[in-house]
Amino acid sequence: MNRRALYDKCLRREPLSRAEAYALYEACPLQEIASLADRVRRATVPDPQVVTWQIDRNVNITNVCVSGCKFCNFHCKPRDRERAFVTTPAAYRAKIDRTLELGGDQLLLQGGLHPKLGIEFYEELFRSLKRSYPALRLHALGAPEVAHIARVSGLTTMETLRRLVAAGLDSLPGAGAEILDPDVRRAISPGKPGVESWIEVMHEAHLLNLPTSATMMYGHVETPRQRIDHLLRIRDLQARCPEGHYGFIAFIPWIFRSTGTELEREGITTRFSPLEYLRVIAVSRLVLHNIRNIQASWLTVGRQTAQVALHSGANDMGSIMIEENVVSSAGAHNRFDAEGIRAAIREAGFEPQLRDQLYRPRPWPVKTAAQA
Ligand code: SF4
Repeated sequence: MNRRALYDKCLRREPLSRAEAYALYEACPLQEIASLADRVRRATVPDPQVVTWQIDRNVNITNVCVSGCKFCNFHCKPRDRERAFVTTPAAYRAKIDRTLELGGDQLLLQGGLHPKLGIEFYEELFRSLKRSYPALRLHALGAPEVAHIARVSGLTTMETLRRLVAAGLDSLPGAGAEILDPDVRRAISPGKPGVESWIEVMHEAHLLNLPTSATMMYGHVETPRQRIDHLLRIRDLQARCPEGHYGFIAFIPWIFRSTGTELEREGITTRFSPLEYLRVIAVSRLVLHNIRNIQASWLTVGRQTAQVALHSGANDMGSIMIEENVVSSAGAHNRFDAEGIRAAIREAGFEPQLRDQLYRPRPWPVKTAAQA
C-alpha cells in the first residue's frame, strides 16, 4: 500500500475501496489518520472552529420488548408485570415541560418492540404530543421499531413510515444498527429485524426525505473488518440517497457497555481503549466522505476521550441527554449539563454552538416560554 496516495485520496474525499479502508484501519499510525481526519473535518464543516451540541431528552415509550438483544438491560418481557411500562400522557407532559425549561427542543423517543402496539398507537402518541407541543421535534423510533410496527400492523415499512411522518415524526434515529453484519446480528440480537431490514427502512426514509442518523455499537463480538464493512454499508446506502434529500445527517459510533448484560454472562465484556475509539472516529470521518457530521459519544467514552475525538475527525458532541436509560443501564454513567458540555468544548479548543437535529444553529442561552 502506498500510504501517501491513500491519504491524498482521503483528502480529496473520494470513496475508498474496501482494501483501502481496511488498510487505513489496520495499518496506518493513529496520529497520522487522526490528523488527516482533522484536516478532512475542517474542510467539510461550515466553520471548523465550531463544535455543535444539542439539548434533548430520551424518553422511552415502553420497555416491553420481544427482541431480547443480549447487550440490552433495559427491556423486559411482556409478562414481566413488575417492570413493564408504557409511558403515560401525564409522564410525557412532566418530562417535556422540564425539557423545554432546560432549553431542549426535541424528544428522542425510543422503546422496545412491544407485541401489541401497532401503528394506531404511535400515530395517536405523535399526534397528541404535537397537538400539545407543536414546536417540539420528535426524533423517534429506529429502523427495527419501524419494521416491527409494520409487522404488527400488517403494513409495509414504507406505508408505516408515511403514516408516522404524517402523524408528526420529524426524524429517524440510527438506533438498532449495532454492527450491520448478519453473523454479528445472529450472535447479539437474533430476535431483532435483520441487517437487510435496517438498510431497507433507512433507504425508504431517505426516499421520503426524512432526516436520519446512523450509528455503530462496536467492541463486542465483531472483528475489526466487520466494523469497516459496517462503515462501507452506511456509506453506500448514503450514496443511494436521492440528490437534495437529507439522508444520514450524522454518524455516531459508540462502545458496547457490558455491565449486567447477557453478553457479559457469556464472557463478552467491555474492552474500552480510548486509542481504539479515536481510530474508529478518524476512520469514520475518512470512510464516510459523504456524511458531514461525526459525533463524539461522551456518554460512553467520557469527557476527555470525547475532547480528543474533536481533534480526530469528530465535529459534534451530541446531546446533554436530560434523561437516558438504555446505555446507562449497561454501565455508561458519564454526565453533562449545558455549562459542562460547553466548557468541555472550549477546553478542547473550539467554540460551542447549540444546534437542532438538522444541525441548524440555535441561540444560547435559550429563551424559554416563561422568559419570552
Ligand atoms: S436494544 Fe431495543 S430491540 Fe433490543 S432488547 Fe433492548 S429495547 Fe429491545
